Amino acid sequence: MEVGDIDKRHIYSDAELDRAEDDAIESLKAHCQQPIPDPDRWLEEEAHHNILLTSVDYVLNWARRSSLWPVNFGLACCAFEMIATAASRFDISRFGMEIFRASPRQADLMIVAGTLTWKMAPQLRRIYDQMAEPKWVLAMGSCAISGGTFAQSYSVVPGVNRIVPVDVYVPGCPPRPEALLYGIRMLHHKISKRSIVAKSR
Ligand code: SF4
Repeated sequence: MEVGDIDKRHIYSDAELDRAEDDAIESLKAHCQQPIPDPDRWLEEEAHHNILLTSVDYVLNWARRSSLWPVNFGLACCAFEMIATAASRFDISRFGMEIFRASPRQADLMIVAGTLTWKMAPQLRRIYDQMAEPKWVLAMGSCAISGGTFAQSYSVVPGVNRIVPVDVYVPGCPPRPEALLYGIRMLHHKISKRSIVAKSR
């Protein structure tokens, strides 16, 4: 007998009702010892192996920082260290950025490596404007950071941050490839702190 089977029209005393309920409970105990299978049990097993929970910001930032494409912008001696960074010994491709682009439209990172003259400044600005958003700039070497040895010169820009916004500065004359790689890692750190979701609200 189940609880629902108790016909209250024929039970007039509390004692009889209690007895009927006791019988129903005992019947349930006798016949319901096995748990009913959870229809979503498979999901738990699948989730254990295949589902990764994270935030939209984390995934987008991870993708962006792991596949930066630098635009070619070697201006002077620092460029040789930048080129060495891309070669096999230092292997910039470990960070997903082995392709130095010849077109700014396919690049999102500008490494300004060398001395920027006022004559070259409009071209640098134009190439920066042609790069896709989001984009970043890394100033490599004393000349790019502040004009370096030529800071007081009539022809040299005393810092590329006067022409384009700079995200990371890598000091040195010239900085070694390890320093450039360290600067790139700093840029990765900066990118990972961006919040795309908060910005779009
Ligand atoms: S910082 Fe030194 S190595 Fe780099 S471009 Fe200037 S003078 Fe050349």
